[in-house]
Amino acid sequence: MATLHFDNAFQQGLPGDPDSRNVVREVRGALWSEVMPAPVAAPKLLAHSPEMAAILGFDDVEIASPEFAEVFAGNRLFDGMRPYATNYGGHQFGRWAGQLGDGRAITLGTVAGSDGQDWELQLKGAGRTPYSRHADGRAVLRSSVREFLCSEAMHHLGIPTTRALSLVATGEEVLRDMFYDGHPEMEPGAVVCRVSPSFLRFGHFELPSARGEVDLLRRLVDFTIARHFPELNASSPEHRLGDWFTEICRRTARLVAGWMRVGFVHGVLNTDNMSILGLTIDYGPYGWIDDYDPDFTPNTTDAQGRRYRFDWQPRVAYWNLTQLARALSPLFADVAPLQAGLDAFAETYAEAERVNIAGKLGLAECRDDDRVLMADLQSWMQAAEADMTLVFRTLSDLPMDALAIDAFDDVHYDVGKRIATAGQLQAWLQRYRQRLADDPHDAMARRDRMRAFNPKYILRNWLAQRAIERAQQGDPSGIVELLEVMRHPCDDQPGREDFAGKRPDWARNRAGCSMLSCSS
Ligand code: AMP
Ligand code: MG
Repeated sequence: MATLHFDNAFQQGLPGDPDSRNVVREVRGALWSEVMPAPVAAPKLLAHSPEMAAILGFDDVEIASPEFAEVFAGNRLFDGMRPYATNYGGHQFGRWAGQLGDGRAITLGTVAGSDGQDWELQLKGAGRTPYSRHADGRAVLRSSVREFLCSEAMHHLGIPTTRALSLVATGEEVLRDMFYDGHPEMEPGAVVCRVSPSFLRFGHFELPSARGEVDLLRRLVDFTIARHFPELNASSPEHRLGDWFTEICRRTARLVAGWMRVGFVHGVLNTDNMSILGLTIDYGPYGWIDDYDPDFTPNTTDAQGRRYRFDWQPRVAYWNLTQLARALSPLFADVAPLQAGLDAFAETYAEAERVNIAGKLGLAECRDDDRVLMADLQSWMQAAEADMTLVFRTLSDLPMDALAIDAFDDVHYDVGKRIATAGQLQAWLQRYRQRLADDPHDAMARRDRMRAFNPKYILRNWLAQRAIERAQQGDPSGIVELLEVMRHPCDDQPGREDFAGKRPDWARNRAGCSMLSCSS
């Protein structure tokens, strides 16, 4: 096996829990607890990310070896691994929830990748930790497949995200009540090894702050800046903290704009699921927009309040940043730099939204009127029950001299609504054509830009569900195939048209497709 050199900087640099018993408890004054993964019965590698494996230096023989599956199921360690779970809190659905922590995530260690980046390797579903509260520390196959695939799909869409190295079946079953409605069932278990420069969340900063552990908070902030924001070492000491918060706000704005571009709904944007590095983190009951519906939330746990619906994501991200600002405020003599950071969120998001509009419509720039043009297209998509991804892809490929509405015949989910809104589409296309006449790009350049901006393949819930059901019956090849498709989301992939299709009727109201929950 490749010799990996693990650095344990987090443990060396920050206070740990002196108690090494693996029992559920409140951990104060410490940011991590030593904990061993709990071995599983029969680890079997179902899929891996070739890009991530290459960065970490694993070759095909090593990946296929039993040792690889054992290490990434938590049954053994490579030399130098010192596993630990971290301590964090968070606001869940708008309320302070106190200590949460890595209840089923265990970090194995951090290694330098061949890309020059440090990568933390973390198992999700590898057993109980001091932070497991009432739960079992395990993860089911269906949610592990979803996290594994979506991490990689998001990366290939060019949106910041934690990554995934491997997906290993445990050979054990886990009891889950999928919709919390009193129908628990045994389901196959799995472990994902996810990979990121860091898994630090807003909640890591909120918890010591809420407890008045200001020194601990300060140490964590200093560590985070030194290790993950080295560019800020150039800032003067009195500006560094404010510059850091502003950078978090800007990254978060760009992150959310990325989600809005491709129709991704995170589903549980609690502050414990917000990465301090501005990455997509914690893939749970997420979903993708099929028919355009700004109110869509895939998360049944959120079906009432719809706090985490698609078009509320920017404002929820802002609210989460205000919670982070509040948590950091004991380190600031004056709130002005925190307010400046929040203002930078609004400014960066507005800029990114303009880039989205220009990119999605194939315009060299987004003018004020173009915002209206986009809003009107969205109104039509919603009224027509048109598929967001297919609409923009169809628009990308449309010859501008023949902006015909029949090109859009296949993007609808409801024939009646298609017919009823045909005039609206016709009128919109007319305005779009006029707008394009005033745009400097030629048709070919526009088409290429639009195709690179508007993906053809997204990880639609029904695609993931189909691969999951096959895997549950013992055939993981659908996962590997889906990963392969998602590696090139903007390219035409002849023979794989099925993966770019509309949601089929069977998936409309199906568990795992339109309905998901936090039970995973
Ligand atoms: P999530 O809803 O996945 O963001 O998780 C919220 C909190 O619950 C985090 O502290 C998780 O570590 C914890 N958690 C979720 N599922 C489990 C589980 N099966 N076992 C232990 N802790 C869990
Ligand atoms: Mg979480």
